[in-house]
Amino acid sequence: MNNAQLFERAQQVIPGGVNSPVRAFRAVGGTPRFIARAEGAYMWDAEGQKYIDYIGSWGPMILGHGHPAVLEAVLSAAREGFSFGAPTEREIELAEAIVAQVPSIEQVRLVSSGTEAGMSAIRLARGATGRSKIIKFEGCYHGHADALLVKAGSGLATFGHPTSAGVPAEVVQHTLVLEYNNIEQIEEAFRTQGSEIACVMIEPIAGNMNFVRAQIPFVKRIRELCDQHGALFVFDEVMTGFRVALGSAQSVYAKAIPGFRPDISVFGKVIGGGMPLAAFGTTRQIMQNLTPLGPVYQAGTLSGNPVATACGLATLKEISKPGFYEALGAKTQRLVAGLTQAARDAGIPFVGDSEGGMFGFFFTSELPQNYNVVMATDKERFNRFFHGMLDRGVYLAPALYEAGFVSAAHSDADLEATLTAARAVFATL
Ligand code: PMP
Repeated sequence: MNNAQLFERAQQVIPGGVNSPVRAFRAVGGTPRFIARAEGAYMWDAEGQKYIDYIGSWGPMILGHGHPAVLEAVLSAAREGFSFGAPTEREIELAEAIVAQVPSIEQVRLVSSGTEAGMSAIRLARGATGRSKIIKFEGCYHGHADALLVKAGSGLATFGHPTSAGVPAEVVQHTLVLEYNNIEQIEEAFRTQGSEIACVMIEPIAGNMNFVRAQIPFVKRIRELCDQHGALFVFDEVMTGFRVALGSAQSVYAKAIPGFRPDISVFGKVIGGGMPLAAFGTTRQIMQNLTPLGPVYQAGTLSGNPVATACGLATLKEISKPGFYEALGAKTQRLVAGLTQAARDAGIPFVGDSEGGMFGFFFTSELPQNYNVVMATDKERFNRFFHGMLDRGVYLAPALYEAGFVSAAHSDADLEATLTAARAVFATL
């Protein structure tokens, strides 16, 4: 069956034909590619068409697909058993490996998705502070837990509206949505309601509005406000964790803000290496609030799954090797610089940015600082660029508000082939 036939068939039994909405190509139009297999930096669709993959399963595949050491670890773990519902040594090893790289956390709990991890982090923050209100930022995605599916209200410091049907307004009444990188708004929020705020949750480098960095003064100010008012600062590193640096995005901010640490961190994607695995962590003291030690309930049948933890551990082992992030970061920078140059040569307004193996680009002339600016960039041009690249065998994220990912498996030849395709496509835009 070809992609179109598979899509038709999928739509009979799966809503929209997909199990996660962005896969449906709604933003860019056209037929989603049904992937048959992947290896290294490449994926092949059901029609045998090969693509250079810059999505990497939306982040996890930092080593590329089917890395031999990871594959071996997964196969050998699978032979020992798929799931026990009882503790294993491998969970300890993975927890130790995460804690070893991230100084802000002393303990983690493993879960199966970023959504679960983010939802649990919020519950923990509320349980630990005894407060209800949470702050998030427009354009940041923290998974699809009810309390986090909120868009900004009409005025400053008003509570948001649900972004999804099925989420009662009452459920999001404690979620305040502010503009990303807007210091005045967060100061105002703390001035008026500081004693009620349990936590501020942020994507430190927001990959769900393409690629927008939280500015250093903004992060620094949130840290100060949280400290002054007894609120917890939650870094959602589901995308950035072990992707932008071995110490995650918080290590990047700690370089610019001496002593900087978030209170709670949320991980996913890379720590599972492509298996359903995520985690949240903080100090031992705050983690003591979780069941079975404390009153904040949290659980999972498949949490700490033995095959998933084997995959995550083998992945972490590879990315901890000296020089890994230097090489990955250089590659990613080379890609973004090459795309920018090619666009400039074609006279097309274009900017890009990257950190470690995560990148973004916009059809506009200045890097956007918040969601509204991202969404005002040239969508038509993005869509034509996306399809032009796809037709030439380069698989980019199918929406202008998504980040891209480079893996260790991308070769210089892959980058060069990507830039050759980009030059050809820019010439048609
Ligand atoms: N937080 C961030 C920053 C994410 O990018 C995502 C998923 N893209 C999530 C949370 C939710 O993770 P999951 O899809 O594994 O539930």
